[in-house]
Amino acid sequence: MADNNIHPVFDRLLQREDKEAALNQKALVLWMTGLSGSGKSTIAIALERRLHNEGYFSKVLDGDNIRAGINNNLGFSDEDRKENIRRISEISKLFVDGGVITINSFVSPTKEIRDQAKQIIGESDFIEVFINASLEVCEARDVKGLYKKARAGEIKDFTGIDAPFEAPENPGIEIKTDDLTVEESVDKIMVELMKKIELKK
Ligand code: ADP
Repeated sequence: MADNNIHPVFDRLLQREDKEAALNQKALVLWMTGLSGSGKSTIAIALERRLHNEGYFSKVLDGDNIRAGINNNLGFSDEDRKENIRRISEISKLFVDGGVITINSFVSPTKEIRDQAKQIIGESDFIEVFINASLEVCEARDVKGLYKKARAGEIKDFTGIDAPFEAPENPGIEIKTDDLTVEESVDKIMVELMKKIELKK
């Protein structure tokens, strides 16, 4: 008589280790936090390309692909910001379970929000990367014209202007984009990242 409780091995989901071995890398989440205009997206894009060129498989998650899609029903209230981060963290966890290095680019302005992400993703798979540029420099760059609008009162609760940014106290990596070029920023992240993503043979 067949026993339905016994599943042969080919019925089971492959494990994260199987995916990591196939991709020849260890998966983790690089969580980039910083003011708007500090350089998160620019570094994320350049880092993804560098990883790709060196044979690593990664995925950038940012406001463009998350808030425009799965989170398009969320605003910027405290509750919605938390839900935004919760969903991003759960999605990141799925990517990491699939062996993928995940590069997250979100302002994530408070310690509470970043801790929530770290808790969902798991501390050992989470590297906090502080993309640090002074408000003056970010405002002078004003890549998307948002600071001008915030100063004019057209955007409320804008991080750095009328909403706080709590700098990470003990980030895994800190990149000061006031002083570094994009290339130098990526170099610095790669040095730290390689220690974690290389599969030990
Ligand atoms: P964010 O994603 O944090 O809002 P962006 O990446 O959109 O910021 O914008 C950052 C701006 O700063 C870009 O115009 C970029 O060219 C410039 N920049 C200058 N130096 C750096 C650096 N070291 N790293 C990243 N961006 C830099």
